[in-house]
Amino acid sequence: MNYQIAANNLKDRVILVTGAGDGIGREAALQYAAHGATVILLGRTIAKLEAVYDEIETNGGNQPAIIPLDLMGATKQHYLDMADTIKQQFGRLDGVLHNAGLLGALSPIDHIEESVFDDVMQVNVKAQLLLTQAILPLIKQSPDGRIIFTSSTVGHSGRAFWGTYAISKFATEGMMQVLADELNETTVNVNAINPGGTRTGMRAQAFPAEDARLLKTPLDIMPLYLYLMGPESRHVSGQCIDAQPQRKPGISSEEE
Ligand code: NDP
Repeated sequence: MNYQIAANNLKDRVILVTGAGDGIGREAALQYAAHGATVILLGRTIAKLEAVYDEIETNGGNQPAIIPLDLMGATKQHYLDMADTIKQQFGRLDGVLHNAGLLGALSPIDHIEESVFDDVMQVNVKAQLLLTQAILPLIKQSPDGRIIFTSSTVGHSGRAFWGTYAISKFATEGMMQVLADELNETTVNVNAINPGGTRTGMRAQAFPAEDARLLKTPLDIMPLYLYLMGPESRHVSGQCIDAQPQRKPGISSEEE
């Protein structure tokens, strides 16, 4: 996507990013801050979140906030407390990037272990639902709210052996569409991004033999993340958009 982003595109916006300590979420947090937002960094590994916090401050961004939360064990009350803290500290919330995710084990359907199914659905689906429910009252007060989910190519096109991960991403796209329809008459837009193969730890886990240098980096795919979080996407809702529309799914090869 060749979207040109104005320098202060996200000025005055408060944006929550889940899984902000690593991979795509880390880069999104840095870029949102670089474009004027105050960013709330949510994740489970505090040292990683602190490193992102420091980088934002070093780059001259607004002072961020850290919410340490493991989505695997978090309950409805944790999310309600989180929303309360955001309200007290910032008085507003303008955007949420649901980015944290778990790959689980890639296997044929008949080999999916129940515990892996439960873990992946907990982090990739249920956590997003509970978090969204908790922040809805706050984000509905935003003059230009944004909720962005993260899907995958296997979230709208079934592929053998992608198991619970694919099922969870189909559910994510379903949640996005239902919520977008429900918020149709409000100021909140709801969309999903399919990052496409991107150079991160999760990608290396899924394709250990791949040459990572052939992949786009998180920074490369940021224009779409900025566009959907910013004012220019005011008329876009209910969509799942590919960050790399030209890319063929599957392992990267020199011939591409
Ligand atoms: P990474 O594994 O690099 O980063 C995932 C982030 O989510 C990490 O910061 C991780 O925290 C956090 N996280 C995982 N589990 C939990 C949890 N239980 N509680 C809180 N935080 C958690 O993944 P990517 O950056 O590659 O993926 C980001 C999103 O993009 C995911 O939703 C993924 O499914 C999706 N995606 C990625 C693609 C790719 O090629 N990279 C392709 C298609 C979709 P910690 O650092 O502590 O591990």
